[in-house]
Amino acid sequence: MHKVTSEELFQRALNVAPGGVHSPVRSFKGLDRAPVFFKKAEGAYLTSVEDKKYIDFCQSFGPLILGHLDPEVKEEVHRMVDTAWTFGATEIYSLELAEWITSTLPFMEKLRFVSSGTEAVMSALRVARAATGRNKILKFEGCYHGHVDNLLVKAGSGLAGAAASSSAGIPAEVAAQTVVTPLDDEQKLQEVFHNFGKDIAAVIIEPLPANYGLLIQTQEFLKKVAELCEKNGSLLIFDEVISGFRVGLQGMVEKTGIRPDLVTYGKIIGGGFPVGCYGGKKELMNMVAPSGDVYQAGTLSANPIGMRAGLTTLKKMQRLDGWNVLEKRTQKFTDAIRAGFAKKGVPLEVSHSASLFWIHGPSKTPIRTIEQIPGNQGATFKGLFLKSLEKGIYLAPNAYEVGFVSMAHTDEILEQAAQAIIDAAE
Ligand SMILES: *Cc1c(COP(=O)(O)O)cnc(C)c1O
Repeated sequence: MHKVTSEELFQRALNVAPGGVHSPVRSFKGLDRAPVFFKKAEGAYLTSVEDKKYIDFCQSFGPLILGHLDPEVKEEVHRMVDTAWTFGATEIYSLELAEWITSTLPFMEKLRFVSSGTEAVMSALRVARAATGRNKILKFEGCYHGHVDNLLVKAGSGLAGAAASSSAGIPAEVAAQTVVTPLDDEQKLQEVFHNFGKDIAAVIIEPLPANYGLLIQTQEFLKKVAELCEKNGSLLIFDEVISGFRVGLQGMVEKTGIRPDLVTYGKIIGGGFPVGCYGGKKELMNMVAPSGDVYQAGTLSANPIGMRAGLTTLKKMQRLDGWNVLEKRTQKFTDAIRAGFAKKGVPLEVSHSASLFWIHGPSKTPIRTIEQIPGNQGATFKGLFLKSLEKGIYLAPNAYEVGFVSMAHTDEILEQAAQAIIDAAE
């Protein structure tokens, strides 16, 4: 009997969805082959429609810190599915997760659940504008904050900080409300504050930028950002959609010791279900409807299945000291890859932080800005990605996406994966 292939499914998908996908990076664009169609996932593994098993380092782009189908989360999800799917009314499930977060992360005095990271960011910006009476938002080149109109911008020409839209369909007037500056450049940052400071409602930053490679910032730079916000009366928003509950229980707030005004979450907070969250200082969050006049709502907000999956995931991570475990495993894993590359004379490097890693070409200095990313990153990655795929390793299908290690990636699986990646690179 004929077995369906990824190639055939992709041809069908191209007829019904733009590029055959429902989020662009899934499409394997530029990789000269059809994306792999999967039918099953468990632990550290994905199974394709061809019945090939892959060790998965994409993990749905970050949410699955326990791996696919974690048994404890699965049980809670099953229980919730048998109890209720959505209420559209007050219930105990979001209350429990909200209480757990506010008591565990003291800077989250009050919060609101939404259904995605994009929504969380969009809502936090609205609060910041309402609170300051200002319109402009400052973002950094190389940080991603979801597909918010205001934030799909790149550096424009002319005055330092001027932005142009990076997507069609965004009015120039909307892009003009955003100011863009490079990461790791205090001087430019100062200049931008000099030009626009009194109009900047909020500065939004990924404190661990991990959406355009892994651009680890210095503590000094992040401190400077916070200091200039304070000085200019602009709010500081940490976008922790990717770093939150990934680098540690309290995320980058804990790692940097910087207290932002607002923080956005997504990904891990829903344990694999669509959940986002924004929150922070009480006086700011009290501005949100119905207690205040910043309107924000959602039919499926605080969906109980996501609430239970999220809480179970977070409690399990806490119980297992998961962040420490992952940090050690990822150190060992990336060290093994580095040693293998060195031994075989493969000119590639691995950056990592907590359980995030990113493979890139050699660089004399740490890569902290998008300009510092080696120019051949696309071509380098393509070769490595396709060979790795052959050897049963599924990396996120894009040169600028990071890899994620989950609790389901045991030392044995990681040893095997490291060897496969080394062989693939050769
Ligand atoms: C993934 C991500 C988003 C967008 O979240 P979605 O759930 O995809 O809308 C926003 N900010 C950061 C830092 C992210 O990593």
